[in-house]
Amino acid sequence: MSPLHKSPLMGEMMHVPLLISTIIDFAARHYGSAEIVTRRVEGDIHRYTYRDCARRARQLANALSGLGVQMGERVGTLAWNTYRHLEAYYGVSGSGAVLHTINPRLHPEQIAYIMGHAEDKVLMFDLTFLPIVQGIAAHCPTVKHWVLMAERSHMPTDDNIPGLLCYEDLIHSHSDDYSWPQFDENAAATLCYTSGTTGNPKGALYSHRSTVLHAYASAMPNALNVTSGDAILPVVPMFHVNAWGLPYSVLLSGAKMVFPGAALDGKSLYELFEAEGVTFSAGVPTVWLGLVNYCLQNNLQFSTFRRTVVGGSACPPSLLNTMMDKLNVEVIHAWGMTEMSPLGTVSTVLGKHRSMPEAEQRKIRLKQGHAIYGVDMKIVDDAGKELPWDGESFGHLYVRGPWIVSGYFKGEGGDPLVNGWFPTGDVATIDPDGFMQITDRSKDVIKSGGEWIGSIDIENLAMTHPAVLQAACIGVPHPKWDERPLLLVVKRPGLELTREDVLHHLEGKIAKWWMPDEVLFLDGLPLGATGKVLKNKLREQFREYKLPTA
Ligand code: ADP
Repeated sequence: MSPLHKSPLMGEMMHVPLLISTIIDFAARHYGSAEIVTRRVEGDIHRYTYRDCARRARQLANALSGLGVQMGERVGTLAWNTYRHLEAYYGVSGSGAVLHTINPRLHPEQIAYIMGHAEDKVLMFDLTFLPIVQGIAAHCPTVKHWVLMAERSHMPTDDNIPGLLCYEDLIHSHSDDYSWPQFDENAAATLCYTSGTTGNPKGALYSHRSTVLHAYASAMPNALNVTSGDAILPVVPMFHVNAWGLPYSVLLSGAKMVFPGAALDGKSLYELFEAEGVTFSAGVPTVWLGLVNYCLQNNLQFSTFRRTVVGGSACPPSLLNTMMDKLNVEVIHAWGMTEMSPLGTVSTVLGKHRSMPEAEQRKIRLKQGHAIYGVDMKIVDDAGKELPWDGESFGHLYVRGPWIVSGYFKGEGGDPLVNGWFPTGDVATIDPDGFMQITDRSKDVIKSGGEWIGSIDIENLAMTHPAVLQAACIGVPHPKWDERPLLLVVKRPGLELTREDVLHHLEGKIAKWWMPDEVLFLDGLPLGATGKVLKNKLREQFREYKLPTA
């Protein structure tokens, strides 16, 4: 970055720090009656308004101060998407403490590790996660208070957790008379750890400023287009990069919020979408597979659901086409990462694309998308030289912007930046209109005879075969070529499929030397804590595998 100059003439506008508390204050004052509906972990449906949420967030802030939580101290959550979790989003960060959302699907040992690393003072958790907390409580010396997010009637009698508190009792014993403190907008607000597919998880520490700016930008029409006329159900968990900012962007837009709680199966989701008139949603491809299959098997259509964001891993063309053609739901492909708060690009077609044949438009929709304002990106070669935006040259994707990390919590892993840019670890092309397409993650690229084979292309293509449910392509060691592609396929239940069928389906659609050397069938693919296929697990599993061509 070039140095900051001091201007002799400064603007004369109010200086209002961009604090997360301004969102909940605005939401309660200007959209006070907007609804928040939750399928509770207890099983029933709970509804209240933005105004109620703000009131309880202030009660929580008073309660936290009563527990001795200071500014900058961390409060962890192990929780589903619910109204209580939303109260924590505002009550914790608003009071100046730092909300640390923890992915409950991680191994308990990893949960205890990141809680220790974050030095969480308080842990708030859902009833579902009581067994995890019972298992790790003795290994979390920094935690002074454990808070079960439930009513008194759901509190366990024999819990083994020292000083366990009941959330509803705790907040009811405090007044809602609370003024959000004012402080520097660059203060830390929330903490999210990367899933740590390689090495220990590292913490991305977001500020109030970065969170508010990200919420603004992600709500824009070219991004997620969040409006007061929408009913929005984030399937993406609030422990997965803050549900992609929706807990903030929805409230500043005045939309109805619908939380699915712990029930993320196709049937439960479909029923909630219909009952609450959900118009817009967001989630990783694997959750949509479940919902789409449920709809197709039962011949169901959505009455109000019209748009969804799909991201977190590449959206398979088959998923996009089925959702758009069979279920009438527009798919908006987006890309980002924990280190980017997370939103970086969204694939919203341009005006000039609209006159193109539908098949051509689909190709653009399948790209990871166009940068949203606030995110700058470039692709570079191994030597760091910038590559052209021609849609063909592919290289390491670098990004920068006000909601992208400058380092990790406690300096873990050293300085990640290269000349002020954050290397994403993704390999991508950018076309002349600025649409970025990921060909692979750097560590998933298959290196054959010194050239790169993009595994995502092969997987996407394989998944267009009607009998292929899921596919993952990995590089396995080869004596002549270093690595060659091995395609792992999960069949759609009840359909016949041979290796020859799969290979025949790929033939002519990809370069000859990209053709997998072998196709193997698996019962399922290993998924990580955020629902992504764990390719490193697969690579480990097939490290000794001998390809027929070897
Ligand atoms: P982790 O890196 O631990 O999986 P993140 O949720 O931060 O956790 O994942 C970010 C990565 O996920 C990106 O760097 C990219 O490789 C992948 N990713 C996210 N969205 C997409 C997408 N739309 N298409 C392809 N890959 C994606």
